[in-house]
Amino acid sequence: MNLRIPGPTPCPPDVLAAMGRQMINHRGPEFASVLNKVKGRLKTVFQTRGDVLIFTSSGSGAMEAAVVNTMSPGDRILAVCNGYFGERFADMAEAFGGQVRRLRFPWGAPANPQDIRTALEEDRSIKIILLTHNETSTGITNDLQTIGALSHQFGKLLLVDAVSSLGAIPLFTDDWHCDVVVTGSQKSWMVPPGLAMVGVSEQAWKAVGQAKTPRYYWDFRSMKSFHEKGQTPFTPAVSVFFALEVALERMIAEGLPNVMARHARVARYTRQNIRSLGLELLAPEECASNTVTSIRLPTGVGAKDLLRLMEEKHKIVLAGGQGELDGHIFRIGHLGYVDEKDIDGVINALRTALPELGYTVSGR
Ligand SMILES: *Cc1c(COP(=O)(O)O)cnc(C)c1O
Repeated sequence: MNLRIPGPTPCPPDVLAAMGRQMINHRGPEFASVLNKVKGRLKTVFQTRGDVLIFTSSGSGAMEAAVVNTMSPGDRILAVCNGYFGERFADMAEAFGGQVRRLRFPWGAPANPQDIRTALEEDRSIKIILLTHNETSTGITNDLQTIGALSHQFGKLLLVDAVSSLGAIPLFTDDWHCDVVVTGSQKSWMVPPGLAMVGVSEQAWKAVGQAKTPRYYWDFRSMKSFHEKGQTPFTPAVSVFFALEVALERMIAEGLPNVMARHARVARYTRQNIRSLGLELLAPEECASNTVTSIRLPTGVGAKDLLRLMEEKHKIVLAGGQGELDGHIFRIGHLGYVDEKDIDGVINALRTALPELGYTVSGR
């Protein structure tokens, strides 16, 4: 089965093999050495001199951690929403008592930094900005560099959902003034689900000390102090750590700029080939994601029918739409362990599957 959804993503054989290792004591020296190595490599990929904390959880768990560690009930929050995951981040802040203003953009359009500036000027009491770097539900990458500069200029705390971008799409935690940056092992990292990695800036640490939201499992302070002795407060997903160690070796060996360039190249290749079938892309080219491509479903073609046919006949698993885009688009994930050959497989399968569902693909 060729898994082409935006996470979990396929894992290289050596990463999978690492998962088969015997268990070790998570309070012993062997684990400490794995943790330290992984942490060091992660700082390189996060492009930060600050802390990177590793939680045993999915990406959403770490998003919740970002919120509960920096926000107090009643704090004013600006949630930038242009898709399903932006709404989720906003929901979380609201669940913990934040006064959330959702600055919404159409699903399929990028967040406009000018509108964010206006919102910050209108309400000086905003403390925290929530931003999805790469909106997986629409296949759009927001302009994090510009928004980070704005957040810095206005003295806000910027919490970034980088679950489907970090490790594949350039993100400079320190230089772009990101305060908390969250990602998950099952996306660009070529690792099974189970670990979430969180970058924490100096400014964020100040907020952590002041935030009044109750927290226990997610407490950044206890995670940091345990990391300093090569441990985690609670039993970690040891096997996923083994996998992440190997995957990070691969990324460093390929070279980070090469990893980013490969994702850009494969994404461009995907869009070109989709257009050559006569299909229409959801995202404008300037902000099209390098990790996931959203394609409008041609009239008359049902999402479920297409996904079922692709899976049963061609052994390719694609993703449908989420939220308001359910039934209107389908998505191809191309992040992590991916190259052009994987995309060729998808395009060739679409070329035979679509006509079976009544859509005539355009000739080359
Ligand atoms: C996948 C994803 C998440 C959720 O991650 P889980 O590991 O499923 O909790 C959050 N945000 C974005 C942008 C994602 O792509």
